[in-house]
Amino acid sequence: MNKFLELSVMGVFAVAAGASAAKPESAEKPWIVDRFDDIKVIRYEVPGFESLPLREKELIYYLSEAAKCGRDILFDQNFKYNLVIRHTLERIYNDTDDRDSADFKALEKYLKKMWFANGIHHHYSNDKFRPEFAEKWLREQIDRYVYSDDLDIPVDFLCAILYDPDMYPSRLNQTAGADVILTSANNYYEGVDQQQVEEFYARMAEQHKDDKEPISYGLNSKLMADEEGNVVERVWRVGGMYSPAIEKIVYWLDKAAEVAEPVQRRTIEALAKYYRTGDLNDFDAYNILWVKDLESNVDFVNGFIEDYGDPLGRKASWEANVNFRDEQACRRTEIISANAQWFEDNSPVDPAYKKKTVKGVSAKVITVAMLGGDCYPATPIGINLPNADWIRKEYGSKSVTIDNITYAYDKAAHGNGFTEEFVLRREDRERMDKYGKLADDLHTDLHECLGHGSGQLAPGTKGTELRTYTSTLEEARADLFGLYYLGDEKLVELGLIPSLDVAWAQYADYIMNGMMTQLSRIEPGKNVEESHMRNRKLIAEWCYEKGRDDNVIEWVVDNGKRYIVVNDFRRLRELFGELLREVQRIKSEGDYEAGKQLVERYAVAVDADLHDEVLRRYRALNIEPYGGFVNPEYRLVYDPTGTKVVDVEISYPADYVQQMLGYGREYSLLPNLN
Ligand code: ZN
Repeated sequence: MNKFLELSVMGVFAVAAGASAAKPESAEKPWIVDRFDDIKVIRYEVPGFESLPLREKELIYYLSEAAKCGRDILFDQNFKYNLVIRHTLERIYNDTDDRDSADFKALEKYLKKMWFANGIHHHYSNDKFRPEFAEKWLREQIDRYVYSDDLDIPVDFLCAILYDPDMYPSRLNQTAGADVILTSANNYYEGVDQQQVEEFYARMAEQHKDDKEPISYGLNSKLMADEEGNVVERVWRVGGMYSPAIEKIVYWLDKAAEVAEPVQRRTIEALAKYYRTGDLNDFDAYNILWVKDLESNVDFVNGFIEDYGDPLGRKASWEANVNFRDEQACRRTEIISANAQWFEDNSPVDPAYKKKTVKGVSAKVITVAMLGGDCYPATPIGINLPNADWIRKEYGSKSVTIDNITYAYDKAAHGNGFTEEFVLRREDRERMDKYGKLADDLHTDLHECLGHGSGQLAPGTKGTELRTYTSTLEEARADLFGLYYLGDEKLVELGLIPSLDVAWAQYADYIMNGMMTQLSRIEPGKNVEESHMRNRKLIAEWCYEKGRDDNVIEWVVDNGKRYIVVNDFRRLRELFGELLREVQRIKSEGDYEAGKQLVERYAVAVDADLHDEVLRRYRALNIEPYGGFVNPEYRLVYDPTGTKVVDVEISYPADYVQQMLGYGREYSLLPNLN
């Protein structure tokens, strides 16, 4: 599962201090390399790559090549005619001499959007893009620059796809009552309707109902009607559908296996075997090896993994990433976990509801070295795999957070005007600037490694008593645990933070977000629904009310704008402790009424005036809601004889268009139609 951890999308957290090494390069090069429509493209850096052993650098190189070879597969999966459209438009973009016209500029924008979405439908909303270049212009360009032999579909049809809003309007339609197969433009099914698909897989499930290790039926194939009208699967494997691209992936995996250590070699070989056979039993065998390998420094994802793009949640899109351990960040979570018992013993929670023995979870933090397929350019910032339930139950799963990506997001958000707009006091802005990311990372670590695992239920409590309030209160409990300890001298003592200023940066931001700025993500007229957002509002509003007599948190109006400020951080920390004690009591005793009171009173209702003001001020900042990345580039360096690899060089291109055109040249492994 891709874990879209709650990012501070608004860019509250700016520059990290002491986090993963900022490179000298960063000073000059901008982090945002392109912006268009609702999208910004950011570059990310790979700190620590240069100091990896040569073997690991080589391994990353080969796995990265494998990660780039599946790009066309995803384009084709997203929509049957994506590749022919991309090939045609790229040809015109490269060859035309009409480069100054408005039509050309519009073509460039359309291509940028298409590259970003890996197709002609928006990556998030799934709606088809509307070209802003004239159809007449396009037809002229095709006449001049595209050989009809290269087109494979009639020009009229191609234009209809692009310009007729009623054709293939959505990549993924999940409207209740509709035939979601016939009305979704993705290329996972063809010539079959929803009922046929459901019957096909119901039969398959029936045949295999006694399997103890159930494979994920249909995960790696297109389901379609053949010439006789039989419903058949076309499997994505060597010799099957997408073979030319998969052969290349396997070629690079074989190279990777040669330089991998034995344990990892077996994992990579198992993946290559699965690509050759297309047998999902082989995929499971690979997943088991992969999930058991916790030792290898370099790790990767490569395959048909996530099924979000299929309205029936069966077919998986192709994705890849290559990564290695972020030692510095992993040390952080190890220190926290090693001290788990101390944190439990010293928490403000009623001793009856503390765990006698508690074990922290140490989360793995990784540095990504390459993104591919459905992880590129838009990528999750956390990953939890494999997806097969029986493997998760039997062998567990690997859960990682990707530090250099969140770092790049933060860098890119710096200077977007957000803190200037919403943070009143300069000292708060400076603390957020300096410590924002470290504070955010540590809060997440404390939340994940300790918060959720702390505390215990009273005898007789089942844990289901809080019903619909369960997840909001659970998130509040974990957040409060993190907030409370972020402001503890113990963290300075453990060397996790240089001073409590880190905590004050987080406190100021947390309260502002909970009471105010997170409203920018809610539509006018709506209340707070999502449980993480409710949890933040609950904590902030409760502390505001309880600290009102001492003016701990204060609304200030300045120049006609509203600001929320924290006047007393130490007192606020005590309030976090008091609320933690109460929320833990509610959970431990299963006190539904008290839980309901808390949530309904503090976490739900939105002040319409304030909401309106936040939306207005946020919109004026023109911050693009979606972000994605350009990849670094790697180059093998040979010895003078040209036979032996002596190093792998990394560089950071900062041109989105050039990277996409380059990928189009070097990794165009599939024909127009597959
Ligand atoms: Zn949580």
